[in-house]
Amino acid sequence: MNKLINLTLDGKKVQAEEGKNLIDVAKDNGIEIPTLCYYKKSKPLATCRICTVNINGRNTTGCTVKVEEGIDVKINTPELFENRKAIIEMLYAEGNHFCPSCEKSGNCDMQNLGYKMAITNTRYPHVFRNKKVDFTPHRMIMESNRCILCKRCVEEIKTKDGKSVFSFVKRGINTRVQIDYKEERKLTEDEAIRAMSICPVGAILVKGISDGKPFGERKYDFLNQNVHTSLKNKKIELEDGEKFIVATTSLAGCFGCHMSLLDIDTDLIDMLEIVEFNKSPLTDIKKFSKQCHVGLIEGGCANDENVHVLREFRRKCDILISFGECAIMGGIPAMRNFVPLQECLEEAYLNGPTSELGADIIPAHEDIPKLLDNVYPCNEVVKIDYYIPGCPPNAQHIWKVVKSILLGEEIPIAHEEFKYD
Ligand code: SF4
Ligand code: SF4
Repeated sequence: MNKLINLTLDGKKVQAEEGKNLIDVAKDNGIEIPTLCYYKKSKPLATCRICTVNINGRNTTGCTVKVEEGIDVKINTPELFENRKAIIEMLYAEGNHFCPSCEKSGNCDMQNLGYKMAITNTRYPHVFRNKKVDFTPHRMIMESNRCILCKRCVEEIKTKDGKSVFSFVKRGINTRVQIDYKEERKLTEDEAIRAMSICPVGAILVKGISDGKPFGERKYDFLNQNVHTSLKNKKIELEDGEKFIVATTSLAGCFGCHMSLLDIDTDLIDMLEIVEFNKSPLTDIKKFSKQCHVGLIEGGCANDENVHVLREFRRKCDILISFGECAIMGGIPAMRNFVPLQECLEEAYLNGPTSELGADIIPAHEDIPKLLDNVYPCNEVVKIDYYIPGCPPNAQHIWKVVKSILLGEEIPIAHEEFKYD
Protein backbone atom coordinates (compact mmCIF):
# COMPACT_ATOMS: atom_id res chain seq x y z
CA MET A 1 0.00 0.00 0.00
CA ASN A 2 1.28 3.47 -0.91
CA LYS A 3 1.60 6.10 1.80
CA LEU A 4 -1.52 8.05 2.78
CA ILE A 5 -1.79 11.67 1.69
CA ASN A 6 -4.29 14.46 2.54
CA LEU A 7 -6.42 16.25 -0.03
CA THR A 8 -9.66 18.24 -0.20
CA LEU A 9 -12.68 17.22 -2.28
CA ASP A 10 -15.32 19.96 -2.56
CA GLY A 11 -14.19 21.36 0.80
CA LYS A 12 -14.14 17.93 2.51
CA LYS A 13 -10.75 16.88 3.92
CA VAL A 14 -9.98 13.25 3.11
CA GLN A 15 -7.07 10.83 3.07
CA ALA A 16 -6.15 8.55 0.19
CA GLU A 17 -3.34 6.40 -1.08
CA GLU A 18 -0.81 8.52 -2.96
CA GLY A 19 -1.05 8.05 -6.73
CA LYS A 20 -4.57 6.59 -6.72
CA ASN A 21 -6.90 7.73 -9.48
CA LEU A 22 -8.96 10.79 -8.48
CA ILE A 23 -12.24 9.33 -9.85
CA ASP A 24 -11.82 6.30 -7.56
CA VAL A 25 -10.76 8.41 -4.56
CA ALA A 26 -13.85 10.61 -4.96
CA LYS A 27 -16.07 7.53 -5.28
CA ASP A 28 -14.56 6.01 -2.11
CA ASN A 29 -15.60 9.21 -0.36
CA GLY A 30 -19.18 9.26 -1.64
CA ILE A 31 -18.64 11.86 -4.38
CA GLU A 32 -19.42 10.97 -7.96
CA ILE A 33 -17.33 12.52 -10.72
CA PRO A 34 -19.44 11.82 -13.82
CA THR A 35 -17.64 10.25 -16.77
CA LEU A 36 -18.46 8.29 -19.92
CA CYS A 37 -15.02 7.10 -21.01
CA TYR A 38 -13.33 6.18 -17.70
CA TYR A 39 -13.18 2.43 -17.23
CA LYS A 40 -11.35 1.34 -14.13
CA LYS A 41 -9.34 -1.45 -15.74
CA SER A 42 -8.08 0.60 -18.71
CA LYS A 43 -5.57 3.40 -18.65
CA PRO A 44 -7.38 6.78 -18.45
CA LEU A 45 -8.66 7.72 -21.90
CA ALA A 46 -9.67 11.37 -21.33
CA THR A 47 -11.81 11.36 -24.46
CA CYS A 48 -15.19 12.55 -23.14
CA ARG A 49 -13.91 15.29 -20.75
CA ILE A 50 -17.10 15.11 -18.70
CA CYS A 51 -15.00 14.44 -15.59
CA THR A 52 -13.35 17.87 -15.80
CA VAL A 53 -12.62 19.16 -12.28
CA ASN A 54 -10.75 22.14 -10.93
CA ILE A 55 -7.48 21.44 -9.10
CA ASN A 56 -5.78 24.28 -7.28
CA GLY A 57 -7.58 26.75 -9.57
CA ARG A 58 -6.93 24.97 -12.88
CA ASN A 59 -9.41 22.89 -14.89
CA THR A 60 -8.25 19.40 -15.85
CA THR A 61 -9.72 15.97 -16.64
CA GLY A 62 -10.28 14.11 -13.34
CA CYS A 63 -9.57 10.67 -14.81
CA THR A 64 -5.94 11.56 -15.60
CA VAL A 65 -5.16 12.83 -12.09
CA LYS A 66 -3.22 10.74 -9.59
CA VAL A 67 -3.85 12.22 -6.17
CA GLU A 68 -1.00 13.92 -4.33
CA GLU A 69 -0.48 15.68 -1.02
CA GLY A 70 -2.41 18.91 -0.47
CA ILE A 71 -4.41 19.17 -3.71
CA ASP A 72 -7.66 21.10 -3.49
CA VAL A 73 -10.21 19.56 -5.87
CA LYS A 74 -13.47 21.26 -6.83
CA ILE A 75 -15.94 18.87 -8.45
CA ASN A 76 -19.50 20.11 -8.23
CA THR A 77 -19.34 23.86 -8.87
CA PRO A 78 -22.10 25.46 -11.00
CA GLU A 79 -19.54 26.23 -13.74
CA LEU A 80 -18.24 22.66 -13.95
CA PHE A 81 -21.81 21.32 -13.89
CA GLU A 82 -22.71 23.62 -16.79
CA ASN A 83 -19.64 22.46 -18.78
CA ARG A 84 -20.61 18.81 -18.28
CA LYS A 85 -24.19 19.50 -19.28
CA ALA A 86 -23.04 21.28 -22.45
CA ILE A 87 -20.84 18.30 -23.43
CA ILE A 88 -23.72 15.84 -22.98
CA GLU A 89 -26.01 18.10 -25.02
CA MET A 90 -23.39 18.25 -27.79
CA LEU A 91 -23.13 14.45 -27.83
CA TYR A 92 -26.91 14.20 -28.14
CA ALA A 93 -27.01 16.78 -30.95
CA GLU A 94 -24.06 15.29 -32.81
CA GLY A 95 -25.28 11.66 -32.82
CA ASN A 96 -28.68 10.24 -33.68
CA HIS A 97 -30.01 9.39 -30.26
CA PHE A 98 -33.58 8.17 -30.68
CA CYS A 99 -33.96 6.69 -27.20
CA PRO A 100 -37.50 5.34 -27.77
CA SER A 101 -36.14 2.97 -30.44
CA CYS A 102 -32.73 2.21 -28.91
CA GLU A 103 -31.82 -1.23 -27.59
CA LYS A 104 -29.72 0.32 -24.80
CA SER A 105 -32.41 2.59 -23.42
CA GLY A 106 -32.67 2.23 -19.65
CA ASN A 107 -29.19 0.71 -19.46
CA CYS A 108 -27.33 3.54 -21.17
CA ASP A 109 -24.73 5.56 -19.24
CA MET A 110 -25.18 8.63 -21.40
CA GLN A 111 -28.97 8.58 -21.07
CA ASN A 112 -28.58 8.21 -17.32
CA LEU A 113 -26.30 11.25 -17.13
CA GLY A 114 -28.91 13.16 -19.15
CA TYR A 115 -31.54 12.26 -16.53
CA LYS A 116 -29.25 13.14 -13.63
CA MET A 117 -28.51 16.55 -15.11
CA ALA A 118 -32.23 17.10 -15.88
CA ILE A 119 -31.44 17.68 -19.57
CA THR A 120 -34.75 18.14 -21.37
CA ASN A 121 -33.40 19.30 -24.74
CA THR A 122 -30.14 20.30 -26.43
CA ARG A 123 -29.19 23.95 -26.88
CA TYR A 124 -27.41 22.94 -30.12
CA PRO A 125 -29.19 22.08 -33.39
CA HIS A 126 -29.31 18.37 -34.18
CA VAL A 127 -26.88 17.44 -36.95
CA PHE A 128 -28.73 14.30 -38.16
CA ARG A 129 -25.68 12.89 -39.96
CA ASN A 130 -25.92 9.51 -41.56
CA LYS A 131 -22.95 7.48 -40.34
CA LYS A 132 -22.36 3.86 -41.22
CA VAL A 133 -24.37 1.13 -39.53
CA ASP A 134 -22.31 -2.02 -40.07
CA PHE A 135 -24.20 -5.32 -40.05
CA THR A 136 -21.35 -7.31 -41.65
CA PRO A 137 -19.55 -8.61 -38.51
CA HIS A 138 -20.28 -12.19 -37.47
CA ARG A 139 -21.76 -11.45 -34.05
CA MET A 140 -22.09 -7.71 -33.81
CA ILE A 141 -23.69 -4.63 -35.29
CA MET A 142 -21.82 -1.33 -35.10
CA GLU A 143 -24.25 1.63 -34.92
CA SER A 144 -21.80 4.50 -35.46
CA ASN A 145 -24.55 7.11 -35.16
CA ARG A 146 -24.67 6.49 -31.41
CA CYS A 147 -20.92 6.10 -30.86
CA ILE A 148 -19.39 8.87 -28.73
CA LEU A 149 -15.80 7.82 -29.57
CA CYS A 150 -14.98 7.11 -25.95
CA LYS A 151 -12.36 4.49 -26.99
CA ARG A 152 -13.35 1.97 -24.32
CA CYS A 153 -13.89 -0.82 -26.86
CA VAL A 154 -10.63 -0.04 -28.67
CA GLU A 155 -8.61 -0.34 -25.45
CA GLU A 156 -10.49 -3.15 -23.76
CA ILE A 157 -11.68 -5.71 -26.28
CA LYS A 158 -8.91 -8.02 -27.48
CA THR A 159 -8.86 -11.59 -28.77
CA LYS A 160 -7.21 -14.31 -26.70
CA ASP A 161 -4.02 -13.81 -28.73
CA GLY A 162 -4.05 -10.09 -27.88
CA LYS A 163 -5.28 -8.71 -31.21
CA SER A 164 -7.51 -5.60 -31.31
CA VAL A 165 -11.07 -6.03 -32.56
CA PHE A 166 -12.04 -2.34 -32.62
CA SER A 167 -10.04 0.59 -33.98
CA PHE A 168 -10.58 4.24 -34.91
CA VAL A 169 -10.56 4.99 -38.64
CA LYS A 170 -10.68 8.28 -40.59
CA ARG A 171 -10.11 11.70 -39.01
CA GLY A 172 -11.87 14.76 -37.62
CA ILE A 173 -15.67 14.68 -37.80
CA ASN A 174 -15.45 11.52 -39.95
CA THR A 175 -13.71 9.48 -37.24
CA ARG A 176 -15.56 6.27 -36.48
CA VAL A 177 -14.98 2.89 -34.89
CA GLN A 178 -14.34 0.00 -37.24
CA ILE A 179 -14.59 -3.69 -36.42
CA ASP A 180 -11.91 -6.07 -37.70
CA TYR A 181 -14.14 -8.84 -39.09
CA LYS A 182 -11.49 -11.56 -38.89
CA GLU A 183 -10.60 -10.84 -35.27
CA GLU A 184 -14.26 -10.36 -34.30
CA ARG A 185 -14.99 -13.95 -35.40
CA LYS A 186 -12.56 -15.16 -32.72
CA LEU A 187 -14.60 -13.64 -29.87
CA THR A 188 -16.84 -15.93 -27.86
CA GLU A 189 -20.44 -14.86 -27.32
CA ASP A 190 -19.60 -13.82 -23.74
CA GLU A 191 -16.74 -11.66 -24.98
CA ALA A 192 -19.01 -10.05 -27.55
CA ILE A 193 -21.62 -9.37 -24.85
CA ARG A 194 -18.90 -7.81 -22.71
CA ALA A 195 -18.07 -5.45 -25.60
CA MET A 196 -21.74 -4.46 -25.75
CA SER A 197 -21.87 -3.84 -22.03
CA ILE A 198 -18.70 -1.78 -21.71
CA CYS A 199 -19.94 0.54 -24.45
CA PRO A 200 -21.51 3.44 -22.50
CA VAL A 201 -24.11 3.92 -25.25
CA GLY A 202 -25.96 1.66 -27.68
CA ALA A 203 -23.31 1.64 -30.42
CA ILE A 204 -22.19 -1.99 -30.06
CA LEU A 205 -24.99 -4.52 -30.37
CA VAL A 206 -24.77 -8.30 -30.39
CA LYS A 207 -27.02 -10.01 -32.90
CA GLY A 208 -29.82 -11.96 -31.25
CA ILE A 209 -29.04 -10.58 -27.77
CA SER A 210 -31.30 -7.90 -26.35
CA ASP A 211 -30.28 -5.41 -23.71
CA GLY A 212 -33.91 -4.31 -23.45
CA LYS A 213 -35.65 -4.91 -20.13
CA PRO A 214 -39.10 -3.84 -18.95
CA PHE A 215 -39.47 -0.73 -16.82
CA GLY A 216 -38.57 -1.49 -13.25
CA GLU A 217 -35.87 -4.00 -14.20
CA ARG A 218 -33.58 -1.63 -16.03
CA LYS A 219 -30.19 -0.58 -14.70
CA TYR A 220 -31.09 3.07 -14.22
CA ASP A 221 -34.80 2.95 -13.46
CA PHE A 222 -34.83 3.61 -9.73
CA LEU A 223 -32.19 5.80 -8.26
CA ASN A 224 -34.27 7.28 -5.44
CA GLN A 225 -33.47 10.79 -6.37
CA ASN A 226 -35.40 13.75 -7.65
CA VAL A 227 -34.65 15.75 -10.75
CA HIS A 228 -35.39 19.44 -10.19
CA THR A 229 -36.90 21.58 -12.87
CA SER A 230 -36.14 25.26 -12.69
CA LEU A 231 -38.81 27.69 -13.76
CA LYS A 232 -38.06 30.86 -15.65
CA ASN A 233 -41.51 32.39 -15.41
CA LYS A 234 -43.35 33.94 -12.51
CA LYS A 235 -46.80 32.84 -11.38
CA ILE A 236 -49.43 33.79 -13.95
CA GLU A 237 -51.81 36.30 -12.34
CA LEU A 238 -55.54 35.71 -12.98
CA GLU A 239 -58.60 37.88 -12.39
CA ASP A 240 -61.27 36.52 -9.99
CA GLY A 241 -63.03 33.51 -11.56
CA GLU A 242 -60.66 33.49 -14.54
CA LYS A 243 -59.05 30.18 -15.60
CA PHE A 244 -55.69 29.45 -17.21
CA ILE A 245 -56.16 29.18 -20.94
CA VAL A 246 -54.32 26.33 -22.64
CA ALA A 247 -54.10 25.37 -26.33
CA THR A 248 -52.64 22.15 -27.72
CA THR A 249 -51.75 20.80 -31.16
CA SER A 250 -50.16 17.78 -32.79
CA LEU A 251 -47.75 18.44 -35.68
CA ALA A 252 -45.65 15.56 -37.07
CA GLY A 253 -46.44 13.20 -34.20
CA CYS A 254 -48.66 10.19 -33.61
CA PHE A 255 -51.10 11.76 -31.10
CA GLY A 256 -49.58 9.52 -28.42
CA CYS A 257 -48.68 12.56 -26.31
CA HIS A 258 -52.30 13.77 -26.46
CA MET A 259 -53.44 10.25 -25.49
CA SER A 260 -51.06 10.41 -22.56
CA LEU A 261 -52.48 13.81 -21.59
CA LEU A 262 -55.95 12.21 -21.42
CA ASP A 263 -54.50 9.41 -19.28
CA ILE A 264 -54.27 11.71 -16.30
CA ASP A 265 -57.68 10.23 -15.42
CA THR A 266 -59.27 11.77 -12.34
CA ASP A 267 -56.69 14.58 -12.30
CA LEU A 268 -58.58 15.83 -15.37
CA ILE A 269 -61.27 17.02 -12.94
CA ASP A 270 -58.67 19.05 -10.99
CA MET A 271 -57.26 20.29 -14.27
CA LEU A 272 -60.58 21.50 -15.60
CA GLU A 273 -61.19 23.44 -12.38
CA ILE A 274 -58.29 25.70 -13.18
CA VAL A 275 -57.80 25.24 -16.94
CA GLU A 276 -59.93 26.13 -19.95
CA PHE A 277 -58.86 24.64 -23.30
CA ASN A 278 -58.93 26.85 -26.38
CA LYS A 279 -57.70 25.63 -29.79
CA SER A 280 -57.01 21.92 -29.31
CA PRO A 281 -57.87 18.47 -30.70
CA LEU A 282 -59.26 17.82 -27.20
CA THR A 283 -62.00 20.44 -27.70
CA ASP A 284 -62.09 20.27 -31.51
CA ILE A 285 -61.84 24.08 -31.46
CA LYS A 286 -60.07 24.77 -34.76
CA LYS A 287 -59.23 28.47 -34.38
CA PHE A 288 -57.80 30.55 -31.55
CA SER A 289 -60.51 32.75 -30.04
CA LYS A 290 -58.17 34.46 -27.54
CA GLN A 291 -54.60 34.78 -26.39
CA CYS A 292 -53.58 31.70 -24.35
CA HIS A 293 -51.36 31.41 -21.30
CA VAL A 294 -49.79 28.11 -22.38
CA GLY A 295 -49.49 26.16 -25.64
CA LEU A 296 -48.52 22.49 -25.71
CA ILE A 297 -46.91 21.23 -28.92
CA GLU A 298 -46.68 17.57 -29.84
CA GLY A 299 -44.64 16.56 -32.92
CA GLY A 300 -41.94 18.25 -34.95
CA CYS A 301 -42.17 20.14 -38.24
CA ALA A 302 -42.28 17.85 -41.28
CA ASN A 303 -44.19 20.10 -43.71
CA ASP A 304 -45.04 23.74 -44.38
CA GLU A 305 -48.39 23.50 -42.60
CA ASN A 306 -46.65 22.33 -39.40
CA VAL A 307 -44.42 25.41 -39.58
CA HIS A 308 -47.43 27.70 -40.10
CA VAL A 309 -49.33 26.18 -37.12
CA LEU A 310 -46.25 26.29 -34.89
CA ARG A 311 -45.64 29.97 -35.67
CA GLU A 312 -49.29 30.75 -34.94
CA PHE A 313 -48.99 28.95 -31.58
CA ARG A 314 -45.90 31.02 -30.80
CA ARG A 315 -47.86 34.23 -31.47
CA LYS A 316 -50.99 33.15 -29.62
CA CYS A 317 -49.45 31.49 -26.53
CA ASP A 318 -47.44 33.36 -23.90
CA ILE A 319 -45.58 30.21 -22.89
CA LEU A 320 -44.82 27.45 -25.38
CA ILE A 321 -44.00 23.89 -24.28
CA SER A 322 -42.62 21.12 -26.52
CA PHE A 323 -43.86 17.81 -25.17
CA GLY A 324 -42.66 14.41 -26.38
CA GLU A 325 -39.58 13.31 -28.30
CA CYS A 326 -40.92 14.29 -31.74
CA ALA A 327 -41.43 17.93 -30.73
CA ILE A 328 -38.09 18.07 -28.92
CA MET A 329 -35.78 16.35 -31.40
CA GLY A 330 -37.93 15.24 -34.34
CA GLY A 331 -38.42 11.71 -32.94
CA ILE A 332 -39.35 8.80 -35.17
CA PRO A 333 -40.43 11.05 -38.13
CA ALA A 334 -36.91 12.58 -38.11
CA MET A 335 -35.46 9.16 -38.96
CA ARG A 336 -36.23 10.12 -42.56
CA ASN A 337 -33.60 12.88 -42.28
CA PHE A 338 -30.90 10.38 -43.27
CA VAL A 339 -32.60 9.37 -46.49
CA PRO A 340 -33.07 11.73 -49.47
CA LEU A 341 -36.68 12.96 -49.59
CA GLN A 342 -37.34 11.55 -53.07
CA GLU A 343 -36.20 8.09 -51.93
CA CYS A 344 -38.57 8.30 -48.90
CA LEU A 345 -41.49 9.18 -51.17
CA GLU A 346 -40.68 6.36 -53.59
CA GLU A 347 -40.49 3.87 -50.72
CA ALA A 348 -43.78 5.10 -49.25
CA TYR A 349 -45.83 5.33 -52.46
CA LEU A 350 -44.16 3.17 -55.11
CA ASN A 351 -41.89 0.47 -53.75
CA GLY A 352 -43.06 -0.24 -50.19
CA PRO A 353 -44.68 -3.58 -49.28
CA THR A 354 -48.05 -1.85 -48.80
CA SER A 355 -47.99 0.02 -52.15
CA GLU A 356 -50.54 -1.07 -54.72
CA LEU A 357 -49.02 -3.26 -57.42
CA GLY A 358 -48.07 -1.08 -60.38
CA ALA A 359 -48.52 2.17 -58.42
CA ASP A 360 -46.74 4.95 -60.27
CA ILE A 361 -47.97 8.15 -58.61
CA ILE A 362 -46.46 10.09 -55.76
CA PRO A 363 -49.32 12.31 -54.59
CA ALA A 364 -48.76 16.02 -55.20
CA HIS A 365 -51.40 18.77 -55.16
CA GLU A 366 -51.46 22.41 -54.15
CA ASP A 367 -53.79 21.51 -51.24
CA ILE A 368 -51.40 18.90 -49.84
CA PRO A 369 -48.86 20.42 -47.41
CA LYS A 370 -45.37 20.51 -48.91
CA LEU A 371 -42.86 18.27 -47.20
CA LEU A 372 -39.75 19.99 -45.82
CA ASP A 373 -36.29 18.68 -46.69
CA ASN A 374 -35.93 17.46 -43.07
CA VAL A 375 -38.10 17.01 -40.01
CA TYR A 376 -37.21 19.81 -37.58
CA PRO A 377 -37.50 19.93 -33.80
CA CYS A 378 -39.85 22.79 -32.80
CA ASN A 379 -37.10 24.83 -31.11
CA GLU A 380 -35.28 25.06 -34.44
CA VAL A 381 -38.31 26.89 -35.88
CA VAL A 382 -39.58 29.07 -33.00
CA LYS A 383 -38.49 29.85 -29.45
CA ILE A 384 -39.66 27.16 -27.01
CA ASP A 385 -39.89 27.96 -23.30
CA TYR A 386 -40.10 24.49 -21.71
CA TYR A 387 -39.61 20.85 -22.70
CA ILE A 388 -41.26 17.67 -21.40
CA PRO A 389 -39.34 14.67 -22.77
CA GLY A 390 -40.75 11.16 -23.17
CA CYS A 391 -42.32 8.96 -25.83
CA PRO A 392 -44.91 9.70 -24.70
CA PRO A 393 -44.23 11.54 -21.45
CA ASN A 394 -45.94 9.98 -18.46
CA ALA A 395 -49.44 11.45 -17.92
CA GLN A 396 -48.92 12.53 -14.29
CA HIS A 397 -45.57 13.99 -15.28
CA ILE A 398 -47.15 16.17 -18.00
CA TRP A 399 -49.76 17.52 -15.62
CA LYS A 400 -47.25 18.06 -12.83
CA VAL A 401 -44.99 20.14 -15.11
CA VAL A 402 -47.85 22.10 -16.71
CA LYS A 403 -49.36 22.81 -13.28
CA SER A 404 -46.01 23.94 -11.91
CA ILE A 405 -45.60 26.29 -14.88
CA LEU A 406 -49.13 27.70 -14.53
CA LEU A 407 -48.76 28.17 -10.77
CA GLY A 408 -45.13 29.31 -10.94
CA GLU A 409 -43.96 26.63 -8.50
CA GLU A 410 -40.81 24.54 -8.74
CA ILE A 411 -41.76 20.88 -8.39
CA PRO A 412 -39.24 18.06 -7.97
CA ILE A 413 -39.72 15.31 -10.52
CA ALA A 414 -39.00 11.74 -9.40
CA HIS A 415 -36.20 10.10 -11.40
CA GLU A 416 -38.48 7.29 -12.60
CA GLU A 417 -40.98 9.80 -14.02
CA PHE A 418 -38.37 11.57 -16.12
CA LYS A 419 -37.90 9.49 -19.28
CA TYR A 420 -36.66 10.03 -22.81
CA ASP A 421 -38.37 6.83 -23.98
S1 SF4 B 1 -30.38 5.04 -24.98
FE1 SF4 B 1 -28.32 5.96 -25.03
S2 SF4 B 1 -27.38 5.30 -26.94
FE2 SF4 B 1 -29.56 4.86 -27.07
S3 SF4 B 1 -30.38 6.63 -28.12
FE3 SF4 B 1 -30.61 7.03 -25.93
S4 SF4 B 1 -28.75 8.12 -25.33
FE4 SF4 B 1 -28.37 7.22 -27.36
S1 SF4 C 1 -18.45 1.93 -29.85
FE1 SF4 C 1 -19.05 2.40 -27.73
S2 SF4 C 1 -17.25 1.82 -26.53
FE2 SF4 C 1 -16.56 1.99 -28.66
S3 SF4 C 1 -15.84 4.11 -28.87
FE3 SF4 C 1 -17.98 4.09 -29.51
S4 SF4 C 1 -19.11 4.63 -27.65
FE4 SF4 C 1 -17.08 4.04 -27.00
